[in-house]
Amino acid sequence: LWQKILNELESTFNEETYTDVFEPLKSTHKYANDHVYVLVPNEFIKNRINRLYLSKINELATKFNNAPIRFKFVTESELLPEETLVSPERNLSLKYRPGNLNATYTFDNFVVGKSNMFAFRMAMKVADQPGAVANPLYIFGDVGLGKTHLMQGIGNYILDQDINQKVMYVKADGFIEDFANLLKREKMEDFNAKYREIDVLLVDDIQIMGGATRTQMEFFKLFDYLYQQNKQIVITSDKPASELKNIMTRLTSRFEVGLTVDIQVPDLEHRIEILKRKLASESSDVHDIPADVLEFIASSFVTNIRELEGALKRVLFYCLTNNLDLTIECVNEALEPLLKTKRKSDSLNENNYDRIQSIVSDFYGISLEDLIGKKRHSKYILPRHIAMYLIKTRYNIPYKTIGNLFGDRDHSTVLAACEKIDNEIKQDSSLKLAVDTIVKKIDAFNKK
Ligand code: ADP
Ligand code: MG
Repeated sequence: LWQKILNELESTFNEETYTDVFEPLKSTHKYANDHVYVLVPNEFIKNRINRLYLSKINELATKFNNAPIRFKFVTESELLPEETLVSPERNLSLKYRPGNLNATYTFDNFVVGKSNMFAFRMAMKVADQPGAVANPLYIFGDVGLGKTHLMQGIGNYILDQDINQKVMYVKADGFIEDFANLLKREKMEDFNAKYREIDVLLVDDIQIMGGATRTQMEFFKLFDYLYQQNKQIVITSDKPASELKNIMTRLTSRFEVGLTVDIQVPDLEHRIEILKRKLASESSDVHDIPADVLEFIASSFVTNIRELEGALKRVLFYCLTNNLDLTIECVNEALEPLLKTKRKSDSLNENNYDRIQSIVSDFYGISLEDLIGKKRHSKYILPRHIAMYLIKTRYNIPYKTIGNLFGDRDHSTVLAACEKIDNEIKQDSSLKLAVDTIVKKIDAFNKK
């Protein structure tokens, strides 16, 4: 019977589908209790068959067979004895996971503090009930603050609950590449087969899709397709959806229907906790470091958790290989090269930021205090925005950091200011002239 069905399938589907999907299944079936069990090479093929071809197969089966018969497609691992399948140790030891996920990014080793508490809670809820709580979940924050970790944590958690869930993690550039390749080879069915069969879609760094219009259109279709079916979608970005550049509003407005959460810079206590947890993890040979040493490291690396981790690794390596005790002096030595460049660029930049602020305030004849202060009069607001814009375009430091230079304003205020100026100088030639003049003054100063 199975052979008959295969013959029929061969003439129904195009050659490629047949060789990819059905050819390998020729001699691997077995009849038992009203079922035909067919061994398939992997989960992916199994799902592809179940979703796309099962009804056709059933139809053919009824045609060829008088008694009712069912097909079951099983992978090798499903044929293993029960206990090896459910053994949790076995699952834990798997570094590689389906869906492009990295198993090391879990909720368990994500250290929670004020800066990421809400994002973390929502991520847990979403992972607990994919598609039912917040769809899409949109996570934004500056680089190195844990967006990818949290997003993959969602995927890993979902897989821990149900290994059959089809989770797919993709960086936005990977998505663009996939799309471009398949478009070139005119294989849109493959694109759809790959992306439409999933239960949970995780798209990292969506801002990269800015400008890639065709990909955005395809992503839009995919988004709607999955969304309609209540499939969970999670997106990360370095900015809120409303501030994404060159991403069609059709998409950004979709992102806003769900829930947006942000991750901020962790405070000192939180950073110390992150260091402690890294030390306690099994991948570390050293398990305790004096509190003052931890605090020293944590206070030297503030805005990026990846850098913080890097500093810790460097310290451990340095002290271990030189057989030194972990003291502040030793840590200072270990980190000196990093700290030196950091100090240098910090002080250089700080002076430069100050200078931009004072040149702008001089130019507009207002005091530095008013430039940085809270007064809402337009004669202060415009210079303030220009100064923010110039610092951003020259030094490309995080919006949040710029906010701190202007009396603790928040990320989105600075971002809005920069974009406003960016737009206005395109339309307003006298504003452009003013900004150009200020730039010349800054350049002249830097040459001195
Ligand atoms: P992003 O995607 O926002 O740039 P990542 O998720 O890649 O940042 O995080 C950078 C590094 O910092 C990763 O190694 C990650 O595991 C670690 N990290 C970030 N946030 C946390 C956290 N809250 N607890 C523990 N590790 C974290
Ligand atoms: Mg990331």
